[in-house]
Order: sequence, then structure tokens, then C-alpha cells
Amino acid sequence: MGDTVIYHGAEVAGHRAIALGGGRVLGLGSREQLQGAFAGALLREVRGQFRSALLDGHLHLLAYGRALGEIDLAGFETAAAKATLRAARCAAPGWLRGRGASAGLLAELAADADLVRELAPLRIWAHDLHTLLSDPGSVRQMGLDREVPAGGAVERGPDGLPTGLLRETAASPLAKASEEDGGGAEGAVARAIRELWRHGIVGAVTFETPEGVRAVAAATRRLPFRAYVYQTGDSIGRGTGPHHLSGRAALVGAKFFLDGTLGSRTAWLKEPWADAPGIGLPRHLPAEIRPRMRSLARRGFSLAVHAIGDAAAETALALLGPLSPTDVPHRIEHLQLVPEGFAERLRQADITASVQPCHLAQDLDDARRGWADRLGRAYPYHAFATAGVRMALGSDAPVESPSPALGLRWATQADDVGGGRRHRLDLHEALSGYREGVYASVGRLAPGIAAGAPADLALYARGPEYGEEPLLVLSEGQEVFRADEAYVEQ
Ligand SMILES: [Zn+2]
Repeated sequence: MGDTVIYHGAEVAGHRAIALGGGRVLGLGSREQLQGAFAGALLREVRGQFRSALLDGHLHLLAYGRALGEIDLAGFETAAAKATLRAARCAAPGWLRGRGASAGLLAELAADADLVRELAPLRIWAHDLHTLLSDPGSVRQMGLDREVPAGGAVERGPDGLPTGLLRETAASPLAKASEEDGGGAEGAVARAIRELWRHGIVGAVTFETPEGVRAVAAATRRLPFRAYVYQTGDSIGRGTGPHHLSGRAALVGAKFFLDGTLGSRTAWLKEPWADAPGIGLPRHLPAEIRPRMRSLARRGFSLAVHAIGDAAAETALALLGPLSPTDVPHRIEHLQLVPEGFAERLRQADITASVQPCHLAQDLDDARRGWADRLGRAYPYHAFATAGVRMALGSDAPVESPSPALGLRWATQADDVGGGRRHRLDLHEALSGYREGVYASVGRLAPGIAAGAPADLALYARGPEYGEEPLLVLSEGQEVFRADEAYVEQ
């Protein structure tokens, strides 16, 4: 697997040089020592800090890869969004795909019925991927004007006709119809992996549909990227158990949804929203999914449950707690609002808290309004760390950027949430959440930087905690990303 290479000049685990070969670390020491031990090795001069490359504890490889190929409406004003969409409609026929729209922007676009008809066939995801805007024609074609799927909502205008706004499960048929064909899926996953490398990420826990699972298997046969895959729980065939998808990817678990999101006010709460009627939108009641979860756990699958609100968190714990233990621990995704005393109960049940501090970039204002009277129980990262809960940090890409620099900033600044509690993690806790925590969440020990360990390294001028992106990224010893200034001229 290629030549032996010595990188010299950067700080690396207390040394100034590191030798890599065959995908692994061969040795650490001074340049002279390593050149003596590995005669004929290539020498690269670099400066800065070598760190262990990071992993993302929760993202969606196929969706992220597809999103990288769509119109990104994040931060757009209404007029600019309309102009951009019209231009894109003229540029190419077929589905017009967008994403990243705020709830407000989506509502304003939906209110312009002429525009929506002009843009058809249309599919724009809200930033949180729980609401989408389509056009009335496509909504009719899917039969959504006649029948609304359980756990979903189809918005209607004053005239009683669908506006094109679809929420939760009602969005699924349109999401599916508007996708690129299957041949594009492997390419989309490869696009996602290349982008993750740029951020110093060489592996991830990823949540996928069956199509995504196949695409991840294919892409990781070619590309050095580790993937621990959870498949949508109701799509796993009878008789299957956890298994390897490629040398680098494994299907380890199954995922279920209990609620929606904060931004859409569809998170499932114990008490009504502080700024909206109702207690959110439960996606499943425990009795509906308990038998299926039990059977999957008995076959060895780790179970992951999406829970944003405190009622969903309580229900997730009640569902996961009694399940058979598996090699890869069961886990709860997001946990943005939890009941009092929840951290201690999570630890006792040995359940992983999978959290995405970068959500705060979008959520902070919503949380302060929707949970104004219960902020002390929101984003309880510090409580999890103090209780000794296993924590995996991630980005939920494509919902947020996968940059760990961004996630680290929010993890260490989470006190901004307010509510009179400490929410934030210290830097060491946050950094280990992107590496040791993710490895532990899939039942593995994180390799350090030592002879024999996989050569998964990222070179920074100082480190991601300074908001920096890497200069050089190595996965299995291969340079998968290199900035122009990575090598220092001798
Ligand atoms: Zn997600």
C-alpha cells in the first residue's frame, strides 16, 4: 500500500517526526532516528500540530452528498431566494431541488402560489429536513390531497387546497419521488466523504435508507473512510443481523423516530410549548414500535431513537432500557430537552447520548422562545458529562456543516442557552466527544498515535479548537486532503 513516508517538523504525540507505511504508523521519533530505521522513506517537511483525525457521531452520508449538489437557501432573503429559484428553473428541466430554507422563508415561498406553480416540479427542504415545499401538482400526483399519512401534515390555504407545504411523514413520498436515480447515490456518498475529509473527518456514524446503505457499501470499498451504519428500522428485512458492508463499513443498527424538531414545533413535549399551542407531534407510540425494536435487538442490532423533546426522551429511555444489550450500545439521538434527573438514568441504562452542539447555531432563538420556562433542562451536555454518560458528538450533516471547528465552538459555548445551568463542555470533553466518544458509541476503543495504530491524522497550524480547518488529512496513511500550503519548502 504505497511507500513509507516520514513527516517531519510538526508536533506529533511529543515527537517531531512520524513514519507511516502500509496504512499504519510505523514509528515516532526524531527525523534522524526515523531515517535510520526506514532507509529510502520519502521525507515531507510540515509545520504545526498532528492530531488524531476525528469522527462524526451522527450524520447522513447520502443525504449530505445529495445536498452538496442542491441549491442552498440558508440565509436567503425572500426576494433573493425567488430570483435564485427562477434562474435555476430556467437553467435545467426536471426536479428543482433546494434545501436550507428557514421556516419563515418556506412559508413566504408557499404563499406565492404563482411562483410555486412556475417552479414545478419543486422540492425545497426546510433547514431541519422535517418540512418541505412542493407544488400543488406534485402533491396531487402523490395522492396527498386525498389522504394524509399518519404522523404527517399537509398544509391547506384559505381555499382549502394544499399549498405545497408538507410536514413529517407527509414529506416522505415527495422526498422519494424527487431523488436522483440510484446510479447517482454512490457518487453522492463519495462527494460527501471528500467534503468530510477536508474537515479532518475520516469516519462517521451514518443514518441511511436501504439505498443509502448500498451506496455507502460501494463508496467505502474504494475510499478510506470508516462508516458505522444505522438503517431505517422498518426497512430491515427479516432474518438479517448486523454485518460488514465493506472492509470499512458495517451495518450496526436500526433507527426509529419518536418526534420531529424544535424549529417546526413538532418535538414531543411533556408540557405545551411556551410560544405555540400543543405538545408537538409524536411520530410513533411505544406500543407500535416496541415489538419490532425487541426483535431487532435480539438479532444483535443496536437501536437508535430520534428524540428531541422531553416526552420523546422519556419514551425513548422506556423503550431502550429493557432491550437485550448488544455489542454496539443502544443510543438516543439529539436529546435537546430532557426531564429532570435524566442524565443519571441514561448512564445507569448504559445508553449513548448522541448530540450535535452545532444545532445551537439555528436553534438558540427557537429554544429561548419555545422552551423559555424550561431552559435549564435544554441541551444538557454538562449534566451528561458530569454523570459519566457516554457522549458522541456529531453534526447531523446535511442539517449543519460537519466542521468540527464549528461544533467545538458551540459545545464549549453552550452556556449561551441560558436557564441558569451550566450547559457547556470543557474543551477536552468536547474534543473527545468527536473521537473517543464516537468510537465508544460503536463499541470500539479509539486508537492513539502510536506504532501499529491506523495512520488517521490531521495536521493543523494549531488545532480545530481555534476555529481552524486542517492543512493535511491522512486516512489509512493516504493523503486524502492537502491544502496548498501543507508542505514547507526545504
Ligand atoms: Zn439526523
